[in-house]
Amino acid sequence: MDGQSILNEIASTSSGEFYTPLPKGYKAGKTKYVVITGSVISGVGKGTISSSLCRLLQDRGMNVEPIKLEAYLNVDSGTLNPFRHGEVFVLDDGSETDLDLGTYERALDKNLQGGNFVTSGKIYQKIIEKERAGKYLGRDVQFIPHVTGEIKLVLRNLAVDTKADVIVIEIGGTVGDYENMFALEALRELKYEEGAENVCFLNITYILEPNSLGEQKSKAAQLGIKRLLAMGIQPSVIVCRSQTKLQESIREKMSLYINIAKENVFGVHDVSNIYGLPLKLREKGFDEAILKILGIAKKFKANGNTALKEWTKKTSTDGKGKPVMIAIAGKYTGSSDAYISILKALEHCSFKLNKTVTAKWIDTTNLEGKKDLLKKQMEGVDGVIVPGGFGTRGVEGKIAMAKYCRENNIPYLGLCLGFQIALIEFSRNVLGLKEANSTEFAPKTPEPVVCLLPEQRKIEGLGGNMRLGGHDVQLKEGTIAAKLHGNAKKIRRRFRHRFECNPEYIKRFEEKGIVFSGKAAKVPIMQILELPKHKFLMASQYHPELTSRPTNPDPLFLEFVKKSAK
Ligand code: GLN
Repeated sequence: MDGQSILNEIASTSSGEFYTPLPKGYKAGKTKYVVITGSVISGVGKGTISSSLCRLLQDRGMNVEPIKLEAYLNVDSGTLNPFRHGEVFVLDDGSETDLDLGTYERALDKNLQGGNFVTSGKIYQKIIEKERAGKYLGRDVQFIPHVTGEIKLVLRNLAVDTKADVIVIEIGGTVGDYENMFALEALRELKYEEGAENVCFLNITYILEPNSLGEQKSKAAQLGIKRLLAMGIQPSVIVCRSQTKLQESIREKMSLYINIAKENVFGVHDVSNIYGLPLKLREKGFDEAILKILGIAKKFKANGNTALKEWTKKTSTDGKGKPVMIAIAGKYTGSSDAYISILKALEHCSFKLNKTVTAKWIDTTNLEGKKDLLKKQMEGVDGVIVPGGFGTRGVEGKIAMAKYCRENNIPYLGLCLGFQIALIEFSRNVLGLKEANSTEFAPKTPEPVVCLLPEQRKIEGLGGNMRLGGHDVQLKEGTIAAKLHGNAKKIRRRFRHRFECNPEYIKRFEEKGIVFSGKAAKVPIMQILELPKHKFLMASQYHPELTSRPTNPDPLFLEFVKKSAK
């Protein structure tokens, strides 16, 4: 029986054992699914390999939609601490997601939406809402079929909404985590319902190579994948991550123990430039193997690799460019994942300018009142980024850093909080408003140069939501910002903030030389500032790092790195 007949049969069953709601117009086989799981350990590049696969399929002219299934119970990533979980990646539609969505957007060079990210919390929330509304018609609501049914519905909704040729599903964590059991069970059901030719399971495993042995060992990988087999899931493709090139004997063992043709066991060992990975995988026949399993290798042929080669070339440097050192002055400096999009945006500039950009972490929590330490930390630094952030910790150190950059003509790029910091610093040391502050850090400050947005003030008592997602930024003619953006009248960028420049101070800032070169369309929200007489002092209330792309770096970043390199 093919997928559609199975779905028809389920739909016509009157007893309540099945729960497979389908979006209107859904047809099995129209969209194919690739399910990516990890085994042995996390952190070995599941996201990188999935996004490389997306790139490869897109390169064949396919409409590819990634979706990340996160196991945690938060409804979205909005409240997560970046130090523990990495940065919160905001989509154009305002969804707060985890950093993997950034990886996918950069790999595919396209904007994703809330439907590309789902947490267990979001699934359970939907189920509880339906239950309270009596939608389950008196049935007891169970993990199987209701939770699994809801997960499948999310996937099929994405298929219908986007008309995707392929949906690449990345399961967070590794096989064996209690947390992602129901997601895996849902996907086992999906394969049965859609038909074997429409769903391909791929497992990314890790081959150990202990120093004491000096050889590769596959036992952990075998046992890890056996857990999938025990759940009724037979992967069709395996990627073996390893430190050194995969040994042939290991490939054979994996083939034998996991019932997979040898040619569907791929080795990916550590590489320095991940941008070269799609082309390398293509040369090994990786995407071809997956499309063969899905029966569409003939329909979507690879196109001579010219575009892919071009992209690979554009996303590298020759390593000979002059090094530029950029300091990132924040408070989550112990975790590079907390600022991953900033690091990527710098990397995009390095490709364009053929420079080696290195990042130096400066923890601003320690800088307060320590002038000498700041000076010492700044040795060899060519430019400074003050990134986004929330809460008081480290703020005074950031203000000291902004002052140092302004006074010593060192390039400064402020991002969101870094924009507000530049305003506070300027108020205190140029406007002479010694007690200037943001009401976020000093609610009773006599000089609230940064304060709550008017619309946020209204809803403050109700839990105060943030201004989130994509908004237009109108650029002022003749300013640096306008020039950097090709004299565009407006650009669209992503925001995540509650506070802003207090409109009552705008005139005073302008009188002393600050130019507000980007503003919101209908409300007096300042969105870009520049100090034209400085080597480079610019800041944006938005997050330019979220929309910088490998072959298309954000103009603010690009100019900042250019000026820092001089
Ligand atoms: N805390 C500041 C605000 O809420 C800045 C936010 C940010 O940097 N993302 O406006």
